Amino acid sequence: MVEGIGNTIEMRHGSGGKESHRLINNLIKKYFNNEFLNRDNDATFLPLKTNNISITTDSFVITPRFFKGGNIGKLSVCGTINDLAVSGATPKYLTCGLIIEEGFKINELEEIIKSIASEAKKAGVYIVAGDTKVVEKGSVDGIFINTTGIGELEREIIDVSNAKVGDTIIVNGTLGDHGMSIMCSREELNIFGDIESDCATLNYLVKDILEVAEEGIHVMRDATRGGIAAVLNEIAIKSNVTIEINEEDIPVKKEVVATCELLGLEPLSIANEGKIVFFVQEKYVDKVLNKMRNNNLGKNSKVIGKVIKSGEGIVLLNTVIGGKRILDMPVGENLPRIC
Ligand code: MG
Repeated sequence: MVEGIGNTIEMRHGSGGKESHRLINNLIKKYFNNEFLNRDNDATFLPLKTNNISITTDSFVITPRFFKGGNIGKLSVCGTINDLAVSGATPKYLTCGLIIEEGFKINELEEIIKSIASEAKKAGVYIVAGDTKVVEKGSVDGIFINTTGIGELEREIIDVSNAKVGDTIIVNGTLGDHGMSIMCSREELNIFGDIESDCATLNYLVKDILEVAEEGIHVMRDATRGGIAAVLNEIAIKSNVTIEINEEDIPVKKEVVATCELLGLEPLSIANEGKIVFFVQEKYVDKVLNKMRNNNLGKNSKVIGKVIKSGEGIVLLNTVIGGKRILDMPVGENLPRIC
């Protein structure tokens, strides 16, 4: 129960008047609480150590809002922080826009706000600006969240077109967990299995790696929508190289494989929310792997393949049964609203 707000969101909570102020002060700012927000200006001032910033934005519409391993709030921080981290930036600030449906339960909103606050704290970022809108019942499905992230860039941006022949490709753990977790938690599908989403902020893992191998990291990408099939194809095309990966080396949980088989899905095209592919110069591979495996978010890191030649812009998959095929960019939409 949040003081002076009631049990559900009503249109008046978005009016800009007394009820809006109560919602913002007694619930949202209570958890986001920091010097930038507390000044209550229309815009805030952000001190930065560098003239170069990295900026990214993302909107989150996931259903269901709560799933094993997280909720829409946690996800809205992780997704944006990870996009900053893989560009080589140190995440510093986040904005948070909420669009809430009339009738939304206040205690559910409080859980989401708490998750945003705790995940931001974990990642070492401040939520410096925000906006809350309430729309009539039926205009939005519960709550949609937009976050924009700002990071300090104290090196060259790590560019997707920078993969080089000879690079080793490393992934920081099992693939497909997020997408399959969401699939399993959708009641209408009622699939067996209890898969936990890998939703996590990876900025400290990336920082660890850049500390030991800054020169050796040619490309990093978080493998979100479209899974590693999408990101590897993107990197192959942008860098104009041929990538070869080995199916038997790719870590995928048994439950994820089983659920994918049942649904006729390709595990390599399933979304992750806590996985990055790293393209690492050969001489840094051991150093990077050691560092990754010492971090809880990288303890199952594996080498999955290599950049074998320039040209073509394709991804080849050596299958477990000894075949070789092209791993295409995923087409269509098998899993809507997974982030
Ligand atoms: Mg990304």
